[in-house]
Amino acid sequence: SYVVTDACVDELDKSCVEECPVDCIYEGARMVYINPDECVDCGKCVPACPNDAIYWEHKLPEDKSVFVDIATVFFDET
Ligand code: SF4
Repeated sequence: SYVVTDACVDELDKSCVEECPVDCIYEGARMVYINPDECVDCGKCVPACPNDAIYWEHKLPEDKSVFVDIATVFFDET
């Protein structure tokens, strides 16, 4: 799936939410989160983000890998 990273924090532009065909991008307090169980890997959210915050999980820079876990925790708790 795709992953939202630190560049979204306190930005919450949410242009990606409009683009997602399966409505799997959810708003948290300080950033949005992609539900990995619902994402269909279409990639449409990536160019929509003005902050370049979204990556395909297999292209995720190593220093941003924690955001996979952060999303998992978010959806476990909601
Ligand atoms: Fe939604 Fe597609 Fe982005 Fe997954 S890759 S979050 S399905 S827009």
